[in-house]
Amino acid sequence: MSTDRNNIVARTEGVEDDSQLLEQVEAHMRATLMNEACDMMRRTGLPAMTVLRLAATAMGSIYREMADEHLQGICECGWQPDETSELRELCQALMEKTCQRALPDLAAMHVAGSA
Ligand SMILES: [Zn+2]
Repeated sequence: MSTDRNNIVARTEGVEDDSQLLEQVEAHMRATLMNEACDMMRRTGLPAMTVLRLAATAMGSIYREMADEHLQGICECGWQPDETSELRELCQALMEKTCQRALPDLAAMHVAGSA
């Protein structure tokens, strides 16, 4: 799947769940963040976990800025930020992808010790 932003077209009016569009946007965001994270590690020598934590911090900061603009009515798209549920949603998205690889590997793990 191409992650070239120019190949991603806007969603069709009235279509709430366009899974192909969501996959394209996720792939593009992933490729962009991966490129930037690797570039920052290469340029700065910072460890991977530090760069990943800073990326997560940046996402929190982006949420704050976007939510504040909507709470102040600067954007009129209709989004009414709900921090409690949306922070849970963001954390859940992070956890889902972080833990995705671990599940299939459990079957391949050797049992350590016996009861
Ligand atoms: Zn808006």
